[in-house]
Amino acid sequence: MYYQSGREMLRMARIYQDEGALESAYFLFLRYITLFLEKILMHPGHKEVSKEVRHEATKSLKSIIPIAEELKKILEVTYQQDYEEWLKQEELLKEERKRKEEEEAEQKKRAEQQPIGGDGMKIPADGYSPPPSSKGLLDDGISYDFLQAPTTKTPTIDRQDTQYSSCRNLLNYTNDMSLKPSSCVRRVVLPSALIPRFMSLAEKNTKANKETCGVLAGKLAQNCLRMTHLLLPQQEGGPDSCITRNEELLFDYQDRYDLLTLGWIHTHPSQTAFLSSVDLHTHSSYQLLLPDAIAVVVAPKHQQRGVYSLTEHGMRFLTACHQQGFHTHPSEPPLYKEASHVEFSEEGALEVADFRR
Ligand SMILES: [Zn+2]
Ligand SMILES: [Zn+2]
Repeated sequence: MYYQSGREMLRMARIYQDEGALESAYFLFLRYITLFLEKILMHPGHKEVSKEVRHEATKSLKSIIPIAEELKKILEVTYQQDYEEWLKQEELLKEERKRKEEEEAEQKKRAEQQPIGGDGMKIPADGYSPPPSSKGLLDDGISYDFLQAPTTKTPTIDRQDTQYSSCRNLLNYTNDMSLKPSSCVRRVVLPSALIPRFMSLAEKNTKANKETCGVLAGKLAQNCLRMTHLLLPQQEGGPDSCITRNEELLFDYQDRYDLLTLGWIHTHPSQTAFLSSVDLHTHSSYQLLLPDAIAVVVAPKHQQRGVYSLTEHGMRFLTACHQQGFHTHPSEPPLYKEASHVEFSEEGALEVADFRR
């Protein structure tokens, strides 16, 4: 299982790298390296994995470490530039504040020296006065915009500040597997043929009160995940379970067509559409790899369909819950929600690869 998700991780990292999302690419490469160096080599089952698979993984590890190091160098330069820019802005703000204070002190002094009503300036009751020396400043070649800067510039600086700290967090990477490459999810587009097509492929099982499950696969383009393939693995369905077999066939197929795993779909032949505790744990491993991953549930008997994703709380909770089989989770705060980043589209064909036959 580790080896399969490793392949998915690398596929994703290379796409990020190609798209210029270097932070995300670096993060995934790092996660892959950590997974192999720390988790797999120490995993009790790692000796059972075939020599070829391990050899393949070690080989790719050797090619990835230099790439990750290169990315790190690029990112460090970028962060350093960001940081210097941030320092410069801070310096400007400080100077400006100082200038303002001096100006105010100057005005105060003048107001004290000249009696109100004379040739001097009137100081309004609220203490505000137009800067008398602004013309002089303009003559000194400093633009008026600059004088206006504190109100308009402050939000920008705040944003840079938070950006800067998030970069620092990334560099101080820890082994927290729940960290995401990016906190904002991308749009996922599903072909509208998906539900009717899947229902007809599942019909025989549904009539026999057996679940059917499938994998939603597709491509990332212009920061949008478009589902193109429905993959049905070899499986054994029960009334409330679906066990898959020989998943390597699926992974090989995905490698061949360069398909990302965007989520999964399954039927509830007699129940309503929701995610059971087992479904939630299954889905957390999808969403760990791809924060935008979705779970589709089709409940033909109730004519319901749900498209779900885990909440941030859900991700944290499920990663920490080690119970197996059906068990109860607290219902509040919610562990999952209707996915709002998903849309159905008439455009684009849907390919089906059915490995059950
Ligand atoms: Zn289910
Ligand atoms: Zn649990």
